Amino acid sequence: MPLMKCPDCGAEVSDRAPSCPKCNHPFAQIAADKLLNDDLCRVYEDKKLIGATIFYMERKSIKDMGEAKSEVERRLGLPPGPPPRKLSLPVVIVGYLLLFAAIWMVITGRIFK
Ligand SMILES: [Zn+2]
Repeated sequence: MPLMKCPDCGAEVSDRAPSCPKCNHPFAQIAADKLLNDDLCRVYEDKKLIGATIFYMERKSIKDMGEAKSEVERRLGLPPGPPPRKLSLPVVIVGYLLLFAAIWMVITGRIFK
């Protein structure tokens, strides 16, 4: 019979006990949580993060996809997803210059002659 440590008092108890015999800490929640994590791992291997996120949303009835995604990442020990792409200042400036150049060429009739 495998033993596990009670997260509350540190006593060695059977992992099938519904609660800690020493301090009465309930384990059912922890066991259910571990099962959910195992399921998540399986879905993740098969359907990647998006599949695992949808699976988690259904299981926990979470409506917010972003919230579910970060929960899944935390549970699977994944690094958080890439931050939203930010354009660096030089890229923005060059972009505007090209845009103005294009507008200027249209206005001065250098393209549609
Ligand atoms: Zn305990």
